[in-house]
Amino acid sequence: MRLANKVALITGGSSGIGKETALLFAKEGAKVVVSDVNDAEGRTVVAQIIENGGEAAYIRADVSKADDCAKMVDFAEQTFGKLNVLFNNAGIMHSDDDNAVTTEEHIWDLTMNINAKGVFLGCKYGIPALKRAGGGSIINTASFVAILGAATPQIAYTASKGAVLALTRELAVIHAREGIRVNALCPGPLKTELLMSFLNTEEKKQRRLVHVPMGRFGEALEIAYASLFLASDESSFVTGTDFMVDGGITSAYVTPL
Ligand code: NAD
Repeated sequence: MRLANKVALITGGSSGIGKETALLFAKEGAKVVVSDVNDAEGRTVVAQIIENGGEAAYIRADVSKADDCAKMVDFAEQTFGKLNVLFNNAGIMHSDDDNAVTTEEHIWDLTMNINAKGVFLGCKYGIPALKRAGGGSIINTASFVAILGAATPQIAYTASKGAVLALTRELAVIHAREGIRVNALCPGPLKTELLMSFLNTEEKKQRRLVHVPMGRFGEALEIAYASLFLASDESSFVTGTDFMVDGGITSAYVTPL
């Protein structure tokens, strides 16, 4: 098993990428802490893991709140004895996030607090725990939009994901000699709740798909497999990367609609 003897903490683990990753990590031998603000779904993920013979526990944590982040890391260490993998994955894409002129300041603040500050807080409390475990792997979910401008505007979201890439690189450099690897995972457009409720008309969906060489949205499980590689010792020489899992979108040069 690729994650035997590892303890992994996954934020945003109730749904989409986080959920599929929790199920996959557990299948690969990890003890998994699922963390989210959606308690019902988070507990369902944990129940599913236990039903399949794995080990998991749920804790509610809003990643934009320092106290919650401190508690979720503490919970992982108390419950499973240590922390080896921290997957800072929770994120939002608000339906009122648009271009710079129309986006309200509170939408900007909310998005930055969850998507960017949430990663900072996860690292703030998670890194000391990884050090106590003798090193580990941090995976921060960014997005292809941190590399490309998105044709359907979402200015706060795009800026927040740019911040995730930048802070990931610096963390990777700072902690490299402590045995802590830090990578950003950049999913392309996926068929998860987050994007499908944002691209809420067929026209918007097609507008996004025209840029994807594979011509389809990705699946959360396809991102979970990339997280598995970054979490496992198979990626032992990989740090500071923008790990693209995007159906080719960042390599494409296509005429906009
Ligand atoms: P999702 O909506 O299915 O899952 C996100 C999870 O985060 C939900 O369970 C939600 O309850 C949780 N969450 C929201 N706010 C939170 C908070 N303050 N504290 C803790 N948890 C919170 O979406 P997903 O597609 O699985 O997204 C996961 C990550 O992937 C996000 O960071 C997202 O930005 C990123 N991403 C998604 C896509 C895509 O196309 N879906 C593309 C690139 C990047």
